[in-house]
Amino acid sequence: MAEYKTKVLIIGSGAAGYTAGIYAARANLEPIIVAGMQPGGQLTITTDIENFPGFPEPVGGGELMDRMREQAEHVGVKLISDTIAKVDFSKRPFVCYGDNGDKYIGETVIVATGASARWLGMESEKKFQGFGVSACATCDGFFYRNRKVCVIGGGNTAVEEAIYLTNFAEHVTLIHRRDELRAEKVMQERLFKNPKVTVIWDSVIDEVLGTEEPLGVTAVRLKNVKTGETSNLDVEGVFVAIGHKPNTDIFEGSLEMDDEKYLITAPDSTATNIEGIYAAGDVQDKKYRQAVTAAGTGCMAALEADRFLALHE
Ligand code: NDP
Repeated sequence: MAEYKTKVLIIGSGAAGYTAGIYAARANLEPIIVAGMQPGGQLTITTDIENFPGFPEPVGGGELMDRMREQAEHVGVKLISDTIAKVDFSKRPFVCYGDNGDKYIGETVIVATGASARWLGMESEKKFQGFGVSACATCDGFFYRNRKVCVIGGGNTAVEEAIYLTNFAEHVTLIHRRDELRAEKVMQERLFKNPKVTVIWDSVIDEVLGTEEPLGVTAVRLKNVKTGETSNLDVEGVFVAIGHKPNTDIFEGSLEMDDEKYLITAPDSTATNIEGIYAAGDVQDKKYRQAVTAAGTGCMAALEADRFLALHE
């Protein structure tokens, strides 16, 4: 088993992790990033990004993350492709264990493990995952050329995915549990203007319906939350876009979390309840969740780790 030692161990390779790496490397702290299950993080599965400063033309999420990775490597970040499965934060230096048992020892740790898509939680949703049910239009939209699909949710992600899916699908139905969307107004306007989109309000999915052999979705059973009425909508693809949950399972019992399992950081800081451990990006942010805010807190975490090390050396 390999053993790695560093002054700054960064867990996660999204916008927060890479930015923390860039700042820590430029402070001569020779950081290590353990990239995790989805290198590049959630931005690698989004479509064009129009709100990251410095890119007047939309930039693809994957491309933006490739550039962050290149920049991190260029300034000397050591990038390791492994997933942390277990941590021991009981004393300093902190110890983390990779999937295959490799050991990572950090004098400080920056947790930037991000968040993952949430699911509705029905048996039938699980059964058809990968066979008509998806949480990523960018990944799977292409397979629904000239087919009918639906998107569940009313936030920016749902609206963005619905619009994106119109590039392929014959028709897209957005299903939302309330009578107004949470998404930004400009996104809503784009959605309502699109002739390939219908919105069904005040409704939730009761069941995903489909065939056994071959396994595939044929319809969803909808329930109107106001009247209780149910109806079927014929679709071959169901895209769930109801938000995210933070990736904090491995920190259960060691780092303080709120009710929704987001890591708690001190006000105006990325400091967790353990001195020398910092949290940046979506794993500690349920409010803004933007690429640029994740990068911002990644920067803060690296500066705070640097100060901590200077005080303790
Ligand atoms: P949000 O939390 O903003 O929205 C989740 C949506 O799913 C809400 O409309 C919510 O309904 C609905 N929902 C939640 N749980 C259920 C459930 N069990 N059944 C049915 N519906 C449910 O998540 P997003 O992923 O859309 O966005 C996350 C963050 O990322 C936001 O800050 C967003 O602005 C940002 N973002 C920005 C983009 C951009 O700027 N281009 C693109 C994508 C995301 P309700 O409204 O009733 O609560």
